[in-house]
Amino acid sequence: MAQKSIIIIGAGPAGLAAGCYAQMNGYRTRIFESHFLPGGLCTAWERKGYTFDGCIHYLFGSGEGQPFNRMWQELGAVQGRRMVNHDEYQRITDGDKTLIVYADPDRLEQHMIDLSPADAPLIQALCRGVRQFTRFDMSSLYDQPKSLLGAHGWRRLGMKMMPFVLPLLRWGRLPMKDLALRFKDPFLRRAVVQMFSWEEAPAMMGMSLLAYMHTGNAGFPVGGSLEFARALERRYLSLGGEICYEAQVEKIVTENGRAVGVRLYDDEVHTADYVISAADGRTTIFDMLDGEYVSRKIRKMYDGSLPMHSQVQISLGVKCDLSAEPHWVTHLLDKPVLVIGEERHDVGVKHYCFDPSLAPAGKSVVEIMIRSGYGYWQHLYGRKIYDTEQRQVSDIMIDLLDRWHPGLSSQIEYVDEATPLSYERYTNNWKGATSGWLLSRETMPLLIRGVDKTLPGLRKFYMAGHWVEPGGTVTLAAASGRNVIQLICHEEGQPFEAYLPTGETVAV
Ligand SMILES: Cc1cc2nc3c(=O)[nH]c(=O)nc-3n(C[C@H](O)[C@H](O)[C@H](O)COP(=O)(O)OP(=O)(O)OC[C@H]3O[C@@H](n4cnc5c(N)ncnc54)[C@H](O)[C@@H]3O)c2cc1C
Repeated sequence: MAQKSIIIIGAGPAGLAAGCYAQMNGYRTRIFESHFLPGGLCTAWERKGYTFDGCIHYLFGSGEGQPFNRMWQELGAVQGRRMVNHDEYQRITDGDKTLIVYADPDRLEQHMIDLSPADAPLIQALCRGVRQFTRFDMSSLYDQPKSLLGAHGWRRLGMKMMPFVLPLLRWGRLPMKDLALRFKDPFLRRAVVQMFSWEEAPAMMGMSLLAYMHTGNAGFPVGGSLEFARALERRYLSLGGEICYEAQVEKIVTENGRAVGVRLYDDEVHTADYVISAADGRTTIFDMLDGEYVSRKIRKMYDGSLPMHSQVQISLGVKCDLSAEPHWVTHLLDKPVLVIGEERHDVGVKHYCFDPSLAPAGKSVVEIMIRSGYGYWQHLYGRKIYDTEQRQVSDIMIDLLDRWHPGLSSQIEYVDEATPLSYERYTNNWKGATSGWLLSRETMPLLIRGVDKTLPGLRKFYMAGHWVEPGGTVTLAAASGRNVIQLICHEEGQPFEAYLPTGETVAV
């Protein structure tokens, strides 16, 4: 039988993973990627000897033998790679008191009770939840595409989920900002909102992150995000896959309700038996396919009402060694500062000295991330004021940094700014979203139920990546790439196979 072919749009984690698993299962694949690099949002950029990381703070599946690790082994991404496991997620301080968000629930519990004995029952419940989530195998939600589970599969999944139903119900729909309000202590009421970086994050998300950090399954891959993506690219190429860089897909070509190929911006047409889009969801559905294959549900998903997250990242190359400082501190401001048109009450500062490969010896990379909407920057784009505004944001941040680290501003050798428009320009993600749909009370049910990876009325076409895996992350994007190949194998009536670079096989 002739070997079937698959075209994949996008060489982010989802596209590369789909490519690897397709090659493992005997398909001939070609990835078209608009950038000249692999990785999509899983990236980093080098300036004057500093590597500014743009993505991974934590990688689910980093711990050997733990949930998702087998997938990363199959994708050749973790072998021989040192992982940095932090024992604290971050610190939050008002200059007087400091909340240390320990990954270890016992330490966290004791520390928080020391800060506020009056909140002991709530703190104990929170930390009990973290302990419970250490046993939560999130990967079982992605072992098989949900549409292939059948009654037996759902029952089996239900049994696995059973011990977590109560904690999921209790913490899964509770945003951090609401949890914070339940604290009696005024400092904790402010600090807990920032505990997991955005206030609408369901408490369960942060608790499972701490749980995975505690079990050593949410580490930082040394070398950073682009190095990590390059490992995926190497595995894909070694499996015989082909990548065409600087090849932006304009349209998905269809014939009689079937995807048959893609047309690039240079008008070249390429055909295949299947097309997978691992690129931005909105562009795929409404531009590449002209909105011809949509349901009411899909239109609603993309009507702009679901939450997304976009940000400005200020990256600094600093000629001093900050390794003795805690790696991530969020400062609660006594007086708010006006930045990017909004009053800010807190600023998070992170350094990367835990990975010496990212800066020259004795020097440090510092990053500040500020949540920022897309509209603000879009309004300024193309005008001189856009650059002025970027510089103004970094100037304000550098002034603040000098307060917390006197003299640091004089050590800065390089300043780099990225806005939501930069993310959009380099990866084409809608409104510069950093992880597709933001995990929140509204999107949590989509995560549990799963989002369709096909479009109504269109055959031989699949979608992978963070626009079909609410909450995103490199890990779930890759898992969805794996899932669409399972769907294609199912459609072709063949068993799905996955194997390690050493050749060890598992049939799923
Ligand atoms: C600041 C930041 C912090 C993050 N932190 C973490 C973290 O700590 N842990 C974690 O796991 N995840 C993190 N993420 C999220 C993670 O990076 C994403 O969820 C993940 O990269 C999604 O992968 P993807 O393959 O679905 O999409 P993308 O990474 O967006 O890749 C899509 C690819 O498609 C290409 N493309 C788009 N349109 C076209 C076209 N028309 N033709 C050809 N190619 C096209 C793009 O160039 C891109 O390479 C973070 C992201 C950001 C920005």
